Amino acid sequence: MRGAATRSVLWAVLGLMLLALVGQRLLDPVYEPCAACEHTGRVSCGADGCAHGSVPCPGRCIKADDPGWERMAVDGHPPDELWLRFYNVDGTFNAWSRAHIGEVVEMVDGRYVLRGRCPVCAGTTRVACSTCNAARMCPTCRGRGRLRRWLAWR
Ligand SMILES: [Zn+2]
Ligand SMILES: [Zn+2]
Ligand SMILES: [Zn+2]
Repeated sequence: MRGAATRSVLWAVLGLMLLALVGQRLLDPVYEPCAACEHTGRVSCGADGCAHGSVPCPGRCIKADDPGWERMAVDGHPPDELWLRFYNVDGTFNAWSRAHIGEVVEMVDGRYVLRGRCPVCAGTTRVACSTCNAARMCPTCRGRGRLRRWLAWR
């Protein structure tokens, strides 16, 4: 008889702990980025170049997947920083680091210069896909880009 009583107390305590845990998640939700859509909330429509409802910017901004990124020894910069070279008409070059991704590079009087944030993509290097206009929601997170975690430790 005593054993049964102890067991029911244990179950009650366990139940309360679980309730407290779920209750805390209700009041203070924990989210994780949705891996299925890389937390964009959108999926590709299958059109050429469409990823998560966007395509690479057609503007002349520096992009992370431009060919030619390389390490260079530059004063005041870490040695493993990546740079992209642009050759001027006279054979010299200007190079910009990945901190300038999304900025437009243009040739002016034979030399390449930075023209600031790309006006086409606002510096994101991607624009909405013209086929789906980023309207296809990710079925995993239903377009939210993140998933709620009910039993999670921070
Ligand atoms: Zn698309
Ligand atoms: Zn752009
Ligand atoms: Zn998703």
